[in-house]
Amino acid sequence: MTEILHIVGGGLAGSEAAWQAAQTGTRVVIHEMRPKVETFAHKTGHLGEMVCSNSFRSDDSEQNAVGLLHWEMRAADGLIMATADAHRLPAGGALAVDRDPFAETVTERLLTHPLISVTYEEVSNLPSSGHWIFATGPLTSMSLGGAIAAETGAEALAFFDAIAPIIHFDSINMDKAWMQSRYDKGDTEAERTAYLNCPMTRDQYEAFIDALLKADKTEFHDGETAKYFDGCLPIEVMAERGRETLRFGPMKPVGLTNAHQPDVKAYAVVQLRRDNALGTLYNIVGFQTKMKYGAQTKVLRMIPGLENASFARLGGIHRNTFLNSPTLLDEQMRLKSRLGSGATIRFAGQITGVEGYVESSAMGLLAGRMAAAEMAGHTLSVPANTTATGALITHITGGAEAKTFQPMNVNFGLFPPVDGLKGGRRGRRDRYKAYTDRAKADWTNWLAQSAESA
Ligand SMILES: Cc1cc2nc3c(=O)[nH]c(=O)nc-3n(C[C@H](O)[C@H](O)[C@H](O)COP(=O)(O)OP(=O)(O)OC[C@H]3O[C@@H](n4cnc5c(N)ncnc54)[C@H](O)[C@@H]3O)c2cc1C
Repeated sequence: MTEILHIVGGGLAGSEAAWQAAQTGTRVVIHEMRPKVETFAHKTGHLGEMVCSNSFRSDDSEQNAVGLLHWEMRAADGLIMATADAHRLPAGGALAVDRDPFAETVTERLLTHPLISVTYEEVSNLPSSGHWIFATGPLTSMSLGGAIAAETGAEALAFFDAIAPIIHFDSINMDKAWMQSRYDKGDTEAERTAYLNCPMTRDQYEAFIDALLKADKTEFHDGETAKYFDGCLPIEVMAERGRETLRFGPMKPVGLTNAHQPDVKAYAVVQLRRDNALGTLYNIVGFQTKMKYGAQTKVLRMIPGLENASFARLGGIHRNTFLNSPTLLDEQMRLKSRLGSGATIRFAGQITGVEGYVESSAMGLLAGRMAAAEMAGHTLSVPANTTATGALITHITGGAEAKTFQPMNVNFGLFPPVDGLKGGRRGRRDRYKAYTDRAKADWTNWLAQSAESA
């Protein structure tokens, strides 16, 4: 009997995974719970529904990492990108999509594919045999979420993300900031200097709190509740509780000596922690926030040392089911705890800890190809981390810090630097062009090698 690849969840990632696997000759069954079981964000029973904005963000494949991801998915015969292109709306340099015809076309192309069928049912357990991809997204049904938590350990599955803003290291002014762990704690020099510190005077702190209190904030969606994140309150909520709360929380100045002005005691200190193995990204510790994006950049650039901060991603708090992929998944996106059992279980899409329509689709593309290759008896190599798809998979399955793992957008901070290029803002255009040229060449090679080994 021909083996079947089961894909749970027919959202953006599941649809792309199904398409990619079927295009290699693999039989696929998609299990989608909608319209029988609804989520608070989806409005239709279509496959590939976009739940909120209709934007795939920048389409610039030379200067933008998400535009590069578009390029890579187009080159790989991606269903989501081809359909988005077919239903493109005018939006300047961005790729905006006419959402209903988009989802209708994705659904139709999958339903009419000779190797794909769809069953409309909720899957509530992790199976014990067969080949499976779980692409159930940020709003994974509660019963399945419970089953995943039972398998992985509850602390390895989050139901909310509380994202602190992440900043490109080369945009931080190190004439103001310095590296030091609180009380110089740690056995090695690297541990004793693990944090990047930005000092504030009393006036700067007071102005910062005023701006925080006045900033525009986003509301929770219907169906989201605040009860999940008592342990990680947004900074503006902490400030509302009292002007000094942050100074006794994430901004406490104790155990730190300003390397630039050792005699001056800071009134408050904002700490940043390394966010990836490359050391190109730093997150602001404890700074999860519901401030709107425009307000966020303005307020955070008031922090001394961050005046010119370039953000790899901004902060947020959302309902979002996601795995601690760095500890749970291998580089083939398989659940490590099930390796060698009767079932091969992969995860794809937003549940793996990427963030966004395009990133989720890209992880579906990779999972679909990896599963199809494995079922055909070979192993698909992981694309190099110099490509956008490779940078993302490398980040979530190993490059990211497992302890502080939070969902990630694609951005150039995930790419290994190109030697010999100028850092800082001035060299940015040349640097980004070098990243994207290198990525396109490496992605093209990877596609050719994958085709040869198939
Ligand atoms: C409220 C909200 C707003 C967002 N806004 C944006 C935005 O504007 N831009 C952006 O880029 N990203 C946005 N995101 C993130 C966005 O969800 C993801 O980027 C993208 O939809 C994830 O793709 P996915 O395929 O992983 O998940 P989804 O597209 O959500 O697909 C998962 C599918 O699995 C199904 N499913 C769930 N559980 C089961 C089960 N047990 N059995 C069978 N089927 C199941 C669901 O019905 C769904 O069809 C938003 C997320 C949320 C929650």
